[in-house]
Amino acid sequence: MPRILDSLPALYQNLFPAFFQGQVPIEEKATCSNCAMSKQGATGTVGAVDGVDRLFRPDTKCCTYYPRLPNYLVGALLADDSPAMAEGRRRIEEKIDSRIGVTPQWVKPPAKFNYLYKNGNQFFGRARSLRCPYYAEDSGGCTIWAYREAVCSTYFCKYVAGADGRRFWMSLKTYLSLTEIQLARYALLQLMPEYIETGKDKSENATLPLSVEDLDDAAPPERAYAELWRAHAGRERDFYRACYDVVRALPPEGLTQMLGLDGTIELRVLEKLHGAANAPRLPRVLRFSPEATVKWLPDGSVALGAYSEFDAVALPGEAYALLVEFTGTEPVEAVRHRLRTQKQADLLEDVLLELYRHRILVEP
Ligand code: SF4
Repeated sequence: MPRILDSLPALYQNLFPAFFQGQVPIEEKATCSNCAMSKQGATGTVGAVDGVDRLFRPDTKCCTYYPRLPNYLVGALLADDSPAMAEGRRRIEEKIDSRIGVTPQWVKPPAKFNYLYKNGNQFFGRARSLRCPYYAEDSGGCTIWAYREAVCSTYFCKYVAGADGRRFWMSLKTYLSLTEIQLARYALLQLMPEYIETGKDKSENATLPLSVEDLDDAAPPERAYAELWRAHAGRERDFYRACYDVVRALPPEGLTQMLGLDGTIELRVLEKLHGAANAPRLPRVLRFSPEATVKWLPDGSVALGAYSEFDAVALPGEAYALLVEFTGTEPVEAVRHRLRTQKQADLLEDVLLELYRHRILVEP
């Protein structure tokens, strides 16, 4: 099993607490190279795409998103002169040159993208116009993979641990987002303290009405941009690289101090969820969730979903008929005993565990 750290930018290897050396199962159901959510990737096996109505486009997959990259990760990417990163570097440089969404704190989505993203309906995985600018259409991969941010590092369409896996990765996203905010601010404090002192780091989060430039996909007015970058205007790439140098020079205890009580609490939550995702335990009493969605498949099996619209478990029709026996009023073992003696049928523990992980069976 890989370590949690293995799925994150290498910069974090020496910065993150010991917990991140812990292992996580490979999310093998989220087969990015042969997208499990597009028709090309449909396999028809248990837990695969069957029963999921809303599929992804094969030429966007889940990358209908625009990452917000913190200054130091942009610098790390620019400093990586390996041939494998050449295309990613080129795209980031192009983005920096556009000046759109380019600030000392982030390289972020255009305001117009954010507006469309917030107001779109059921577009995720489906709207080509919202496809990430770092997506490689020819390979279907990511050109900045080694430097991707919190959301891209933790999103999976399906989780081997079902709902528990999703909770763990979402919690990791929260921890990473906090890390990105604080490390980017720390770099600013060292290199451009006036940016922090005048509160510009906070005003970046404000949602403003779209300007003419935002609507026309144009760079911000010269004066506003110069005011933002001051002495670093025109030398943005050097600035981002310097941010990377500042962050990688941090001692291991530096990040923990920077994240403070919020970081301590998020780490505690993360540890707890990691345990639930890695060592699942079947509850003593279960009931068939009234919220489960049920879809009969042509081969007579049934696709059941609950915790996510993108993940379903397929069961033979006869097995599905047994689920109504789980009413939450008696222990699982008693229900199984009754099934064996009265119906000459059973649902094995690993099947029940899978149904629980998908919250098709839930605690009463
Ligand atoms: S940065 Fe990479 S993983 Fe994230 S949305 Fe873009 S292409 Fe996809």
